[in-house]
Parts: sequence; C-alpha cells; structure tokens
Amino acid sequence: MNENFSLTRIIRKNVSDLQPYSSARDEFKELGTDMIFLDANENPFETGINRYPDPQQRSVKTALAELKQVSAAQILLGNGSDEVLDLLFRAFCEPNVDNVITVPPTYGMYKVLAGINAVENIEVLLSTDFQLNVTEILKKQNSGSKLLFLCSPNNPTGNSFSEEQVEQLLNQFNGIVVIDEAYIDFSTNASWLQKLSDFPNLVITQTMSKAFGMAGIRLGICYASMEIIEVLNKIKPPYNVNQLTQHMTLKRLDSMGDVKSETNIIREAKNILSTVLLQVKFVKKIYPSDANFLLAKVDNAALRYQQLIDMGVVVRNRSNQPLCENTLRFTVGTPAENLKLIQILNNLEE
Ligand SMILES: *Cc1c(COP(=O)(O)O)cnc(C)c1O
Repeated sequence: MNENFSLTRIIRKNVSDLQPYSSARDEFKELGTDMIFLDANENPFETGINRYPDPQQRSVKTALAELKQVSAAQILLGNGSDEVLDLLFRAFCEPNVDNVITVPPTYGMYKVLAGINAVENIEVLLSTDFQLNVTEILKKQNSGSKLLFLCSPNNPTGNSFSEEQVEQLLNQFNGIVVIDEAYIDFSTNASWLQKLSDFPNLVITQTMSKAFGMAGIRLGICYASMEIIEVLNKIKPPYNVNQLTQHMTLKRLDSMGDVKSETNIIREAKNILSTVLLQVKFVKKIYPSDANFLLAKVDNAALRYQQLIDMGVVVRNRSNQPLCENTLRFTVGTPAENLKLIQILNNLEE
C-alpha cells in the first residue's frame, strides 16, 4: 500500500472544480423502447445509427466487467488507448508545471502525448536486459511527477517487467503508475488487473487493437479505482465511443473462443518464427517476447529494412530507439505470411 499517494493531491485544480457537460442521453439511464426521444435533435428515421450512442457504454462495460472480474465502475472506455492515455495527462498533469516518467525504449505515444500536453517527459532508460531501473526512477521522481508509464509486455522489446520491481514502484512512486497491457493476452504472465484493489495508484490500460483483432474500431480500455475512473469520466468527450464500435466490441466479446484460438495460433507461430529467424545468416539475436512480435538484432537494420520493402514486406526499424541499435521489429503474421517472410529473408543478398 502506498501511504504517500493522494488522488486529491495529484488531480488538476480545474478538473476537480469542473462541472461536466451533461448530455441529453445521460439524463435517461433507461432507453425504454416505448419512449419518444425529442431531446437531442437527431433525425428520427431509423438507420440503426441515427441515435447518439450510450455515453457510458453500459452494455460493453457490463460484458468487460464480467470477463475481467472487475466492477463496471472501475472501467473507462476510450477511442483507442491513445485517448485513454491522453485523458490521464489532461486529468493529472498541469501543463508547463508537472512531469511524467517514461522508460525508453518503449511505446512512443507517451512521449508524444507529453509533448502535446506541454508536460515534461523525464526519461529513465531500461537496463541492457530491458528491465526497470527502479532506483533511478525513484531518484528522478519529484513533487511534480504525476504519471509513470510502464508498458508490460513492453513495445518494442517484447519482454515483461519483473513483478517485484513493478510492485516496488507501485509502493514508492507517489503519482499514478500506468501499466499498459496492450499485449497482455499474448503473455503467459498474469495481468495486473488481479491486483487492482491492492494499489490505489494503479491504472491498467488494455485495448481491442491487438489480440482481439479490432484495431480498426478504436477501443481502448482503462481499469482503475472507482475514484480515478470518476475523474476521467468528468473530462471525457460525452460520445467518445461510437455506436458501431460498441456494437462490434459486444459481438467480439461474445466470441471469446475465436479470440483465444487466434491468440494461440499467433503464440505458436511466434515460437516457430523465433527459431527460424535465428537461423537467418544476418540475424544476430532474437529477444525473448511475451507479445505478438519479435525484436531482432541484425547486421544492418537500414539495409535489411529497405531490402524487405523492395520485396513487399513492411517491418518496423527500431534502431533509433536507445538500446535498440540495428533492430527490426517483426509482427507475427499468419503462418503463411511468416513462411513467406522467412523465404524472402533467406534469399536476401549480402
Ligand atoms: C498497439 C499499442 C496500443 C494500442 O493503442 P490503441 O490506441 O488502443 O490502438 C497501446 N499501447 C501499446 C504499447 C501498443 O503497442
């Protein structure tokens, strides 16, 4: 338990003073079928999407709450994780005053969002084995440190962070620890969701974009204490998750069997790809991965990247990230795509 964490201390004053916008549909919790809605200036002719969506996305939250064994009041949904992350900045980080801590090499959006929100981004590099530098992180935190972003499994390195170290940070970082679990469904490690009630400063983000196969609909999920969710609810745009997204999410959550079997196929394919990639002559190293991608160290990343493009395969060159010199990140494709990739790699010229 973190004795130093206080939600009232870290919330921005304008946010805590805010009277949220009350949308027309917010005032009617029950959308009774026999009611006539003349309150929101919609076109009354039915198209399936002529009405504003539920601003609180109650059906989706109920389904997620059941699946993840949390209360619906501990869930906030956004237009992708990116919106959820942005809401965290806007709720807790005073522009030009506060700071956040990130641990590169990691997901690039934290830094971009810090820039957009005029919030200082304090960077503490991971160790050479891509683990957390706990002492250094705690040394760098100050009274303005509001958010610490930990991506686990981490993008682009693929590994998960040590549980003990994350727990140490949850206990000793005085702001909110955001654990980005975009890749958790590919991992054999347990989600931090199980410990949500143990840590008042824990925020977990997940997404429909990766294992759930719905990057196109943009749905990001935030799990936290009811108190933190309440703050985020105050500042979110009223209709931030559209009707089609809510509908498709519900459908997908109803076919968890498909999600699980696809995830298993991807995991298996990753293990095979990892072994085979290591036999490619210019591949020096494959880093251990709990995600659906592999980070590979190669002889010359810029050259191999371009050669792959010329052969019609797009991968990600991560060489400009610290500790990632000459690395390429390969997303695991279908077994057929992976086979094609390997054939192409084996035929590349010196
Ligand atoms: C892909 C990814 C996301 C997903 O973002 P969405 O906006 O939900 O699509 C979030 N975090 C990390 C680390 C990712 O790699």
